[in-house]
Amino acid sequence: MRKLTIAFVGLVLTLGAAAQKNENLVNKDNPFFKEYKTPFQVPPFDEIKLEHFLPAIEAGITQQNTEIEDIIKVSEAPDFKNTILPFDNSGELLSKVSRVFSNLNGANTNPEMQKLAREISPKMTKHGDDLSLNPELFRKIKSVYERRTTLGLDADQLRVVEKIYNDFVRGGANLSAADQAKLRTLNEALSKLSLQFGENVLAETNKNFRLVVDNKKDLDGLPADVIEAAAIQADKDKMPGKWSFTLQKPSLLPFLQYAKNRDLREKLYRGYFMRGDNDNSSDNKENIKKIVKLRDEKGKLMGYPNFAAFVISENMAQTPENVDAFLQKLWTPALGRAKSELKEMQSIVVKEGGKFKLQSWDWWFYAEKLRKSKYNLDESEIKPYFSLQNVQKGIFYVANKLYGITFENRNDIPIYNPEVLPFEVKEANGSHLGVLYLDFHPRDGKRAGAWCTTYRSQKYRDGKKITPVVSMVMNFTRPVGNVPALLSFDEVSTMFHEFGHALHRLLQDQPYDRTAGDVPRDFVELPSQIMENWASEPEVLKVYARHYKTGEAIPDVLISKIEKSRQFNQGFETVELLAASILDMKYHAPASPVIADVRAFENESLAKEGLIPEILPRYRSPYFSHIFSGGYSAGYYVYIWAAVLDADAFNAFKESGDLFNPALAAKFRELLTKSGSDEGMIIYKKFRGKEPDIKSLLQRRGLE
Ligand SMILES: [Zn+2]
Repeated sequence: MRKLTIAFVGLVLTLGAAAQKNENLVNKDNPFFKEYKTPFQVPPFDEIKLEHFLPAIEAGITQQNTEIEDIIKVSEAPDFKNTILPFDNSGELLSKVSRVFSNLNGANTNPEMQKLAREISPKMTKHGDDLSLNPELFRKIKSVYERRTTLGLDADQLRVVEKIYNDFVRGGANLSAADQAKLRTLNEALSKLSLQFGENVLAETNKNFRLVVDNKKDLDGLPADVIEAAAIQADKDKMPGKWSFTLQKPSLLPFLQYAKNRDLREKLYRGYFMRGDNDNSSDNKENIKKIVKLRDEKGKLMGYPNFAAFVISENMAQTPENVDAFLQKLWTPALGRAKSELKEMQSIVVKEGGKFKLQSWDWWFYAEKLRKSKYNLDESEIKPYFSLQNVQKGIFYVANKLYGITFENRNDIPIYNPEVLPFEVKEANGSHLGVLYLDFHPRDGKRAGAWCTTYRSQKYRDGKKITPVVSMVMNFTRPVGNVPALLSFDEVSTMFHEFGHALHRLLQDQPYDRTAGDVPRDFVELPSQIMENWASEPEVLKVYARHYKTGEAIPDVLISKIEKSRQFNQGFETVELLAASILDMKYHAPASPVIADVRAFENESLAKEGLIPEILPRYRSPYFSHIFSGGYSAGYYVYIWAAVLDADAFNAFKESGDLFNPALAAKFRELLTKSGSDEGMIIYKKFRGKEPDIKSLLQRRGLE
């Protein structure tokens, strides 16, 4: 049995008078101020209370400021040892507490925590600016940077100096005092807006909408487990005897796929795609206008023609023009493919006597029918082979075959919610590599989507390696009754994807904090997306895709159906991804974008590209959290960019005739380990021996 740890959400404490009256008492009990006594020094989630965060954040800021003052005070000429290294190591307490706070605020939040986030966020932004805009500190860093080739530095040290100097420049260190003041104002406003954007999406996804069904007939077509999950949701919503559907993917997608009632499909899908666009208190349209305008100002202030140029100058792609050209290369074939998919589905509508033109809320329903008629494959036929536990075994199996590493469930590792599974990750020789948390299912306090994050990144202190603490957060189908959670193939791919990020975090090994795991944004989805390839290989499926009742391996006939249908619906999937990428660029690439009306801007921008109305971008603007509250602004294209890399990289394994080719696995591990040590393309070419070829992706998606 699992060790029961009280959910953080249950520990909501107000910053009451008692706590404030005796600050020392709070500090004495504050786990952030002590060395963690937990296994592998993971955060002691069961001891952390809401009232501990703010004092620890404030102390962390003070501590880092003192560390910076100490660097400035040194009278000798600045060098790596007296300036760069102490700066690279500074801010330990702040990182310790702020990671716990922001990770929990994403995966396990509540109104009190959100309120605290609104208080903490401007403090963090101000502190970041105080560092970047500290003239004395910058003078020292610049001095090391200018003499860097004469200081006898090794390649890693040289890279760190260049990276840190570049951070300061990008943080505004070279601007005039007046412009620095402007930058501070912009950063503060942007951080508030992005927080507000995220909160609105959370409320719109989890709270503000339900599709409630009280007539059993309206459930026609839905699989039994989906109906049961909806009944459980209705109980939770205090509407026993009814069925309640939410906008979370495990509830939304099966309804769109299977529900025969077309009006209800429309109602639910509208609920989904109107999130943040309902002219209510959670509306994001005004926030978008403000964010885009402020970012444009920031890009120009930093000396670039627009915000996208500022962001992308750091990436492999280098310029927005390169990104646009890249997206266009894929857009035309993908759109052509999607149109023919639409035609095939429309003919099913007609054949069945339907007198309507297929709409966006019909796509999943008819795609499912098309899949059945073309490949005789029904998603519900394969789901029993993808129980959550078996897929979890699958990811561990692949990692073990590739890198020899193992995963042991450790009930003595504290967790932040009783649903979280903690693992110790070990090298082939048994030595400790890191900790991995798996957090699988939707909750009210968890934002939508799937992501991988760290509570502690790999680092070195005094020559000793400190191992990473990594977390995968997902929103998968829950188990219902005695039936374990059975995943859709899309969810299976997501698990492999996030696991790829986790492996990257676990295997990276860099001597300095700044370059640990530091990769260009359009490289960062390579380690994740490449893992998705193994998920669907017959040889791998035979191992992990086992029937949850009988344990029988997935039969060849189903594997062959999965293989044959691999390119199914790829027009749609590529187009919705590209449409979102294009939309992101439309907001961020033009200088001085004028957005009078977000809805009109979105529609017109995409219509101009020829997007068909039956497909919406993967994220409409008012819930496009990646670009408006995450780190992917002017960077959503990275998914499809990295798809070129991962298709090409995985081909290396395929061409070798061995999916687990030990020499290639060792080389790919090297890529993960050293990813921060050089430019993305150089690291990639070390693995592949050549630049990636877009052909692998076009072939894989059937877009040639
Ligand atoms: Zn990813």
